[in-house]
Amino acid sequence: MSALNKGLVTGFEENAVHILQSARSREINARQELREQIMSRGAEQEALAQKARDARSSTGDDQIIVRASIEFSNFCRQRCSFCGMTATNKQLQRYRLSAGQMFDIVKDVSALGVSDLHLASGEDWAFKADALSPVIRQAVAAGMEVTLVTGHRKIEDYAVWKEAGASRYILKVETTNPDSFIAARTGTELTQRVSHLLYLRQMGFKIGSGIISGLPNQTVDDLVDDLMFLKELKPDMSSVSRFLPNSQSRFASTPEGDPDTSLNFLSLLRTEMSRPGLRIPAGTSLGRRQIDAIRHGANVVSLHVTPDEYADLYSGYRAENRISTKMETIRKFAQETGMPLRLHL
Ligand code: SF4
Repeated sequence: MSALNKGLVTGFEENAVHILQSARSREINARQELREQIMSRGAEQEALAQKARDARSSTGDDQIIVRASIEFSNFCRQRCSFCGMTATNKQLQRYRLSAGQMFDIVKDVSALGVSDLHLASGEDWAFKADALSPVIRQAVAAGMEVTLVTGHRKIEDYAVWKEAGASRYILKVETTNPDSFIAARTGTELTQRVSHLLYLRQMGFKIGSGIISGLPNQTVDDLVDDLMFLKELKPDMSSVSRFLPNSQSRFASTPEGDPDTSLNFLSLLRTEMSRPGLRIPAGTSLGRRQIDAIRHGANVVSLHVTPDEYADLYSGYRAENRISTKMETIRKFAQETGMPLRLHL
C-alpha cells in the first residue's frame, strides 16, 4: 500500500494539518457575526439570503446547473455512524450496477441534453477502478464533464479515472471537529481525508467538499470552524447537508437538523467563498425546502437517474422515503425562482 493510502505522505499531510489548524485558530472579528448569521431567522435571515443572491449574481452564477447523478453501488467498507450504507448495516440490500446498465443511463442523460454527470458510490473497493473507466470514457466522448463521488480510494484509482477523463472529485469531510469526526466517521481520519483532497487537486481534479449541519453535539462554533475550513480549502464545489436520522444507522435516534441553520450555512458558503464558477448544490436533505436553497444561494440541483428499483437502496441519510428529484421538479424550481436552467456546461 502506498504511503498516501496510509495517510503518511509528507507535504499533503502537513498542508492538510495546516489548513485545519489555521481554520480553527482564527479568532477573527467576524466570528461573532458568523455565529449570529448562522442562527438568524426572520428579517435578518432574509437579509443574509439576499446577500447570497447578490454574491451569486455578481459572479454570473445565476443559473441552475442540472447534474445527473448515477448511484452505481451502495456497497461500502466504511462505518460512518450517520449513514445507512455503513458496512455494519446487514439489513440493507446491496447492489452494483453493471457497466452495461450505466452505458444505457449515460445515453439517456445525453439525450436529455444534460452534460454534468456524477458517478457516486459508497467506498466500494471491490468495484475496481478499471471497471468504471469505460463509463467515464463514454460520457466524456458524449461531451460530458464527469465528477466522481466514490469516497477515499487508492491513489492508483484516482490516476486511472483521471486518465479516463474524469475532471472533478468530491470528498466530503462532514465535520472538522476532531471529536465529532471520530464519532461520525468511525474508521476514517480527518487529516487523511483532507490530504486526499489536496492530492486530488494537485492531480488536476477540480475538488468538492462539504459538511453536515445538525450532527450530535455540534455547536454553532463548530459550524463556524467548518465554514473557515472550507474557505481555506477553496474547493470548486461546496455543500451543506441537513442531518436526517437514518433508522438503520447508529445515529438513528438523533433529532433532525434544523433546515434554517442549513440554509444560513449555505448562504454563508456563497458570501464567504464568493468567486465565479463556485458550485453549491440544493440538496434533498432539505425536503420540501429544497427550493429555498436556491433562494439562499445554491446553483446546482441533482437529477436522479439511478434506476427506481435501486434508488431507495442508496440510503445515506434516510432509510425510508428518499427523495428522487426528477426533471419536472427541477423545471418547477426554475420557474418559481426565476433562474434559468443550465443543462449543458
Ligand atoms: S458516508 Fe460514505 S463512506 Fe461513510 S458509510 Fe456512508 S457511503 Fe460509506
